[in-house]
Amino acid sequence: MSNQNPVFIPGPTNIPDRLRLAMQVQTQDHRAPEFVEVFAPALDGAKKVFRTDKAQVMVFPASGTGGWEAAVTNTLSPGDTVLVARYGVFSHRWIDLCKRHGLDVQVIDCPWGTGAPADRFQEVLSKDTSHQIKAVLITHNETATGVRSDIAAVRRAMDTARHPAMMFVDCVSSLASMPFEFDHWGVDIAVSGSQKGFMLATGMAILCVSPKAQRAMETAKLPRTFFDFRDMMAANASGGFPYTPPLQLIYGMRESLNMLFEEGLDAVYARHFRLAEGVRRAVKAWGLGLVAQSPDLYSDTVSAIYVPDGYDSNALTDHAFNAYGVSFGIGLGELNGKAFRIGHLGSLTDVMVLSGLGTIEMAMADLNYPIKLGSGVAAAQEYFRTGPSGHAKAAA
Ligand SMILES: *Cc1c(COP(=O)(O)O)cnc(C)c1O
Repeated sequence: MSNQNPVFIPGPTNIPDRLRLAMQVQTQDHRAPEFVEVFAPALDGAKKVFRTDKAQVMVFPASGTGGWEAAVTNTLSPGDTVLVARYGVFSHRWIDLCKRHGLDVQVIDCPWGTGAPADRFQEVLSKDTSHQIKAVLITHNETATGVRSDIAAVRRAMDTARHPAMMFVDCVSSLASMPFEFDHWGVDIAVSGSQKGFMLATGMAILCVSPKAQRAMETAKLPRTFFDFRDMMAANASGGFPYTPPLQLIYGMRESLNMLFEEGLDAVYARHFRLAEGVRRAVKAWGLGLVAQSPDLYSDTVSAIYVPDGYDSNALTDHAFNAYGVSFGIGLGELNGKAFRIGHLGSLTDVMVLSGLGTIEMAMADLNYPIKLGSGVAAAQEYFRTGPSGHAKAAA
């Protein structure tokens, strides 16, 4: 079977040839001047994607999960209270990580398909007059449900409550595909990874750390060695790394940033909205429903889609893979068996999305789903041609 088919899992994402080539570099001495010439622009470029002037970008050899661990261990002490909302598998896993580090985790459980509850955060923070809560943790894009949360609204809630807690945001599946505003939203630590919006191989956690979070690291008592921000910042200041850097990924990152800036970040975000909207039109044409409960919550990087009652979403994703060689995201956690996911982040075009929609339609038809073959593809084609950025009018 051909392995040329794109993947439609919401990360790791398809790696463009340009980036695969950029990562094809022979071993180099990371203490040689050449390394600085690649590393410094990569860190600097990433600041433009986070949209920050004052914060520090750091990269660690790790996946996104390591980025969470770095954020928590560098800024908090055992027994500290953190406030987190749970609305999917990824927000849950971050909570689990905090608990295992001996933090006192105050959890707000929300229905899956909803996002960060700014009003409930405000309520809890207003009552915390002695400021026991040291950080509020938010998953910007809950990859399990296809929900994007309103980070600006959480910032307003924290400001209204006049609460000094830090704000940590997981943007692993949103950064470089959907707008992110580190400074404007008052984020203290943002956590991302190399294998999603940056279109690279897995293996690098990418963090952005505010001056306030840097001050917190001076008194934080959770143990850390490998992830210690102080060692990383000291080494980065002279263009170096505290241990062996993931050289090939750093070369890839520099080129990924070149690609993003050549297209233009606004154009990148518009493309993801357009691809997502094509998928949403297809879902509607199939007569199926999204897990995200309302349009203001729709993610532009992943759509989680309920299968009809009596159908098993795992059988669908298995069949799409076995019969057609295409991977879609399975339903995670309480959505297992009930929903499948189409990832539409990173390096993706209209044409690639149509191939994914065509494939999952065939798989659904094979399994006797009550859908009309071609209906979703046609709805997406119509949107791609005649929607706000379509080419139909110009060609006529
Ligand atoms: C992918 C992802 C992560 C990190 O997962 P890793 O496998 O550790 O890279 C964290 N949060 C969200 C929302 C994600 O989508």
